[in-house]
Amino acid sequence: VGVAALVVRQRMKTSGRWARAMGIVKEFEEKCGTPEGKLKQVADALTVEMHAGLASEGGSKLKMLISYVDSLPTGNEKGVFYALDLGGTNFRVLRVELGGREEGIIHQEFAEASIPPALMCGNSDALFDYIAEKLASFIDEEEQRFHQPAGRQRELGFTFSFPVMQTSINSGTLIRWTKGFSIDDAVGQDIVAELTEALRRKGVEMRVAALVNDTIGTLAGGRYTNNDVAVAVILGTGTNAAYVERAQAIPKWHGPLPQSGEMVINMEWGNFRSSHLPLTEYDHALDVESLNPGEQIFEKLTSGMYLGEILRRVLLKMAVEASFFGDVVPPKLEIPFVLRTPDMSAIHNDSSSDLRVVGSKLKDILEISNTSLKTRRVIVELCNIVATRGARLAAAGVLGVLKKMGRDSLTEGGEKTVIAMDGGLYEHYTEYRECLESTLNELIGEEAAATIVVEHSNDGSGIGAALLAASNSLYLDQ
Ligand code: BGC
Ligand code: MG
Repeated sequence: VGVAALVVRQRMKTSGRWARAMGIVKEFEEKCGTPEGKLKQVADALTVEMHAGLASEGGSKLKMLISYVDSLPTGNEKGVFYALDLGGTNFRVLRVELGGREEGIIHQEFAEASIPPALMCGNSDALFDYIAEKLASFIDEEEQRFHQPAGRQRELGFTFSFPVMQTSINSGTLIRWTKGFSIDDAVGQDIVAELTEALRRKGVEMRVAALVNDTIGTLAGGRYTNNDVAVAVILGTGTNAAYVERAQAIPKWHGPLPQSGEMVINMEWGNFRSSHLPLTEYDHALDVESLNPGEQIFEKLTSGMYLGEILRRVLLKMAVEASFFGDVVPPKLEIPFVLRTPDMSAIHNDSSSDLRVVGSKLKDILEISNTSLKTRRVIVELCNIVATRGARLAAAGVLGVLKKMGRDSLTEGGEKTVIAMDGGLYEHYTEYRECLESTLNELIGEEAAATIVVEHSNDGSGIGAALLAASNSLYLDQ
């Protein structure tokens, strides 16, 4: 065979591969489609599940957990409070000095630490000992710095970002872990008791005054600065929403009717599931192989822990079935979760003409070098498909909540509804955030969009927990 014939054959082989790869992309894109009509169906299905979850315990996959927060911060909160924020991969400890209506937040200090991966899958005592240790040294430093005598008993708001069945404002049992945590002996335990015992082991005097989900903390922190905040949404490692419900609209609540007539609900919307959700073969495989199969399906489509992993799975299929990266499948591509969402965001965000960020990410993370511009373009497009589906579904979720609240269209009084949003995905993934916001406007329409506002509540969950500790303090009159 002559050289020319070889070249032709090679070209045909390459173009056959390319066509196969593009076929995979096209099919994936079609399955990920989220036309407006579908999003409205998703929103309606969410609203239906909200009703079911409020009607009875176990009435829906949506837990609609009662938070025991029946009044949000007023601005009058005063005193020094601590907060502890345990969520995805990091945890933070805070000290907040509240000066009441006149002075607001006088001081605010925090320290952050990452959670060693081994502790995320170990046992309960090890995790809480580690947290108590960090809290203890933070308190020491702070009290020295502020020359604060150990007079009044310290109080803490504990933001614990997992599903908890609350039994009061400062007690509750862990229903199950999410987001890569898996500590069996903590499930079913009272989380406040676990923390309190660890603090006692370390000799730290501290009363946990409030146990809250991060969505509840964000709602409280948001309300402190803006009276119109009525919904909080977290889009980070995981996802969830909380909102203010009328106590009368919660059939499963048998406690006394709160004076405010209101109760904040932690929806745990990450566990929402509906036949209207656009699930692909990659999502099914991701779910089956996850730490929590069958759970958190909405979260697995929309949140930061999973977006990069979905992308990896599509690329792996293209590598295996269409030799997208050449004759060998890049070994790194076979490692679950190697492709993290922050890297995906950087790839998606690359605006250089030769897509050099894409090139260097592929090289650094997956050890794939010399990718063509054409290949890089396809990868950016895949990021766009995955992020767009996630962001549009998150917007549909917000619409579902607004519908339940009767705030999805212009109200008679024209009241504003502010949605306090936080989380690394929302904060750092520009394309995702922009798509979420534009989709929400598309869904609610121009008229209502004027009264419905999304606001970034930067780290509101920690401050919110401190504020709720203040309003539930045993030692202070608020
Ligand atoms: C948890 C929620 C939490 C959300 C955001 C989810 O995985 O179940 O409790 O609010 O992540 O942190
Ligand atoms: Mg933040």
